[in-house]
Amino acid sequence: MAQISLDEIAHSYLPFPKTDADYALKRIHNIWDDGGAYALLGPSGCGKTTLLNIISGLLKPSKGRVRFGDTDVTDLPPEKRNIAQVFQFPVLYDTMTVFNNLAFPLKNRGFDTAYINARVKEVARILELEAVLHKKAEGLGADAKQKISLGRGLVREDVAAILFDEPLTVIDPQLKWQLRCKLKEIHEQLKLTLIYVTHDQVEALTFADQIIVMYEGKIVQIGTPQELFEYPDHKFVGYFIGSPGMNFLPCTMENGKARVGEHDIPLDDRTAALGNRATGSLELGIRPLYLTIHVQETAGSFQVPVQSVEDQGSYRVVALAFNDQTIRARIAENDPVPGSRAWVSFPKKWIRLFENDHLLK
Ligand code: ATP
Repeated sequence: MAQISLDEIAHSYLPFPKTDADYALKRIHNIWDDGGAYALLGPSGCGKTTLLNIISGLLKPSKGRVRFGDTDVTDLPPEKRNIAQVFQFPVLYDTMTVFNNLAFPLKNRGFDTAYINARVKEVARILELEAVLHKKAEGLGADAKQKISLGRGLVREDVAAILFDEPLTVIDPQLKWQLRCKLKEIHEQLKLTLIYVTHDQVEALTFADQIIVMYEGKIVQIGTPQELFEYPDHKFVGYFIGSPGMNFLPCTMENGKARVGEHDIPLDDRTAALGNRATGSLELGIRPLYLTIHVQETAGSFQVPVQSVEDQGSYRVVALAFNDQTIRARIAENDPVPGSRAWVSFPKKWIRLFENDHLLK
């Protein structure tokens, strides 16, 4: 396993890129730790696969260098990079048994039979493939085939990293959950460097220690699930992580309060210390989970019309009109449900301020 350094990487699919917009990856400059479990998370087209292919060697970046530990691998083809890759659709040999599919990457590298047997059995045990080890892959269902594909990635201990490109897309939802937990368990046991591409935040949050959020060809934040939830560095992270996403209200800041239209919302000392601001690009951000809804008048709250209440199973989402804008609050299923009006308060601890889309710190 190795630390992965991405040194001033940029990539354009055009032969003669001119402007920033011509680049699928704008500028990536990061070091990913040896043994980390990373999720690359972002919407379709933000550049996740491009970055993954640059790490694996399927693509050479237009600019910058890739290093595994101290070795510059930018000019090395995939087979010289010591990387295992698991793709969206299973890649395996249908006519071989499950055992031979798992053993293949090890046989190819000349490991001895005793080691191969032990390692294949261990991976088969972890992925619960023991019962089908001697069956041919062709007779198995899509779930089992993708498990074999995962196993072929996990079987090698000598790889610099294992890259997963949305590997659970074809898997049944119930099994998806189990496999994600399994991958986390495997990571804890084997301490492999895992990089997992997904556009599904739940997938990223259950799997990774560190989530790399990408947006329009850039990394906008790297952090633990809790950091991304509580301190989103960029509005996009606030909006993309959490369900529903963060509320944003244009505001100004005066004397320790955020002014949203006619409403003055008190701030905590830390936020107030950022000083007065009257710019047009200031916004107050608060997570729906942290907005407090009361069904009767309460000190420090604002009376607002209720637009809708949506039942989401274990919680409800209440949409409220606040200063001509819709804001959403998340309430527990046992909380009192407001009628046509409610009182909303903004707990100081959970208010964040954003200027030009970036968190003010
Ligand atoms: P998805 O989740 O849909 O796979 P992604 O985040 O992995 O998306 P990429 O596939 O890396 O995004 O694409 C980033 C940008 O580069 C997109 O605008 C895409 O259209 C463009 N792109 C990707 N592959 C190519 C290619 N081979 N030639 C030209 N443009 C490409």
